[in-house]
Amino acid sequence: MSSRLWKHYFLPLAVCLALIASRSSFAFVEDICITPEGTVENFYLEASIQSVPECGYGKYFPRCIYKVLKRSADTFGETSLCRGIIHFEAVYFTAQAVGFTGEMAYFIAAFSQAIDFTQYRALDSCGNNLPLRYWTPPLRGLLRTSTVSGGSIRHLGVPFGKHTKTTNALSPNWRAKEEGTLTEGKQWAFGRSDQLCHGGFTQSEEAGNPFSGRKCASGGELTSDVSKLVSGPIPLSGGITKLGPQILHFDCEPSCWCNNSCTPGAPPLTPKNVIVAEGSNFGDYLARSPFARLENGAPVPELIARLGIFMHWLSDRASHASCTNAEASRVTGPDPDGNFIITLDTYACNALTHGMEHYWEQGMGDKTTPGSEAALRLYYQELSEFAQEYRDLHPSWFRAGFESLPYDQVVGTQSQPGVTLRATLDKNASKRVAIIMSALEDHSFEAIPGFDTLCNR
Ligand SMILES: [Zn+2]
Ligand SMILES: [Zn+2]
Repeated sequence: MSSRLWKHYFLPLAVCLALIASRSSFAFVEDICITPEGTVENFYLEASIQSVPECGYGKYFPRCIYKVLKRSADTFGETSLCRGIIHFEAVYFTAQAVGFTGEMAYFIAAFSQAIDFTQYRALDSCGNNLPLRYWTPPLRGLLRTSTVSGGSIRHLGVPFGKHTKTTNALSPNWRAKEEGTLTEGKQWAFGRSDQLCHGGFTQSEEAGNPFSGRKCASGGELTSDVSKLVSGPIPLSGGITKLGPQILHFDCEPSCWCNNSCTPGAPPLTPKNVIVAEGSNFGDYLARSPFARLENGAPVPELIARLGIFMHWLSDRASHASCTNAEASRVTGPDPDGNFIITLDTYACNALTHGMEHYWEQGMGDKTTPGSEAALRLYYQELSEFAQEYRDLHPSWFRAGFESLPYDQVVGTQSQPGVTLRATLDKNASKRVAIIMSALEDHSFEAIPGFDTLCNR
């Protein structure tokens, strides 16, 4: 290759990959950051995407890429001052638009946002903490970087086996076994099952369908076999990736594993106080927690928390469509030792494309990726379905006598965007939030807690 090409393209790329070697963006970014000064910071300002024309939708220039990837590497943590217009605001609005009360919509959105961190931290528009009841409890096992617990596979959303003719990340086919991982998440969220397995894999009797058993697979591991260009920054497996029930939360032994401070030679991670998704464990955890409490002091209903978590997996699956819809991207297994293996298409999933695509998902003005639009549509569809199923059983979760807003008003199309798509498209971070805030008001929905107004307005 020419030295010019090397200097201008591959060298910056190599630097970027090195920068984010242990971390990566794992789907819709947290683009709304509330500063301690009470301003809404545009996540993209630093990434210069909007101010530099060459950093627009679909463009790969080293300068933009460097800034984008560096910024994305900064967004991991226990908790964050940032949240995502897609993971949070869009979920909140859509839930009320299909009939959930403001309080339930809030917790669906909070749990949806939570699992990009260990814990969702609720702030008001001036950057002050809201009372702990608005936060979610820590859910370290579901974190996108937690390979030990099965967290990461659910953010990436890799389908099983030969999937290209049976399902699609932008429009999951719930009847296709290839969609088994996400479908299992849906069954759990909709209360049809109380068990969630690592990757969804069970002890199945049915050849070629690892999702049909009653108990979680055990003994094997989830491993990955992907090119370095893809895997470099993406934690897919590693540590103790044993199959079994999905781990919701754990404490770290030694504790350096939980705050990213382990130095080389530290003893391996031994998860402690592990809470797995089985039976009433999650509900018991919520009941003991000071976090996620309703106004009347009761813990948030478990199904509402599950539904929020499922909203995240659903949208993250759509978010990674261009990578995971590729034929070569799939999970296979079990092998004779009970192991499952993730492979990813080198071209479609390379770390650079992956990182950039997440930045084209919101705030681009007149365009979003297909994944963004699909996520907003899937929120509407799945929240509607849940509402229909539970309205009579749990009337207190829903507004009485309410008719859902039509799809066109909530999501719409790129040429005639509804509320959530319009908010997603807007280049200005304050405006993205303000679009949601005023639409809530227009429809007499409840405001986002702490966001009756923007700070000092
Ligand atoms: Zn991602
Ligand atoms: Zn995620």
